Amino acid sequence: MTEPSTPRVARTRDELRAARAELAGQTAVVMTMGALHEGHATLIRQAREEADHVVVTIFLNPLQFGPREDLSKYPRTFDDDLAICEREGADLVFAPTPDVVYPDGDPGVRISAGPLGDVLEGQSRPGHFDGMLTVVAKLMHLTGGDAFYFGQKDAQQLLLIRRMVRDVDFPAQVVSVPTVREADGLAMSSRNTYLTDSDREVALSLSQALSAGAAAAAEGPSSVRRAARAVLVQEPLVLVDYLVLVHPTTLEDVPEWYRGEALLAVAGRVGTTRLIDNTPVVIGPGGGRRDVFSQTLDPVP
Ligand code: AMP
Repeated sequence: MTEPSTPRVARTRDELRAARAELAGQTAVVMTMGALHEGHATLIRQAREEADHVVVTIFLNPLQFGPREDLSKYPRTFDDDLAICEREGADLVFAPTPDVVYPDGDPGVRISAGPLGDVLEGQSRPGHFDGMLTVVAKLMHLTGGDAFYFGQKDAQQLLLIRRMVRDVDFPAQVVSVPTVREADGLAMSSRNTYLTDSDREVALSLSQALSAGAAAAAEGPSSVRRAARAVLVQEPLVLVDYLVLVHPTTLEDVPEWYRGEALLAVAGRVGTTRLIDNTPVVIGPGGGRRDVFSQTLDPVP
């Protein structure tokens, strides 16, 4: 095996174009906002195994942050990020500033997430998914990748990206990567750095609620919801925003008779930090937790 070498870094559109021209073959892209952790590393690793080349984008997209959100305090760790990209064998890192991505300022024309962007995360973060889809569309075009790797950790984001690709016919393959967790179950997130030691203990109840819910999957939707809620009510320091069991593509609550794949998702505030987590589950006999959904919205052939 060859030693990893420092990936080329492109900051401008011209630098990206020049670097991309040298990468022949199938190219996979991993989009990030930086502050990379083992979750991001896993996406890069899987992309590395499945494509000829890997491009990582590091861009803290202002368009997807609300006015009262954490854009200004979001961790910025570029040197460490680059070291992870190198370790995982990325060929190219595209790390533009906002004026490179948005040369005319905030774009007047944006991708609309539609009704699926108004529920769950969208309800707490108005405009978030339009901003996210707009930058994902731009980065799909700018990087010219063939396959794009996204984490199941951001389930609604992943669904909306798959919807966008299918609904407006992007020539892109979307790959889902299972959520990477700490040994105690906490889903890895760049925002975990905001947590104090005691916050972190409290935050564990989110993943524990998902585990409890998934363990009741054979018994049906109300048992799943009840088991998950029972964990959360034991931890009053989590301010729960939502705990839902929904259909994986419509995000509507599944009825009691429902059997098959569903998304058990939770969001809540711990201290000053808003955290999200989820797990795919199969409801019904032989059901339980899954890593990713087996049925996804693929591009129309
Ligand atoms: P972010 O930098 O938070 O925007 O995340 C960039 C990509 O990494 C997205 O596709 C996320 O879903 C994914 N990601 C973030 N955390 C995790 C995790 N714990 N496990 C798997 N994927 C993750």
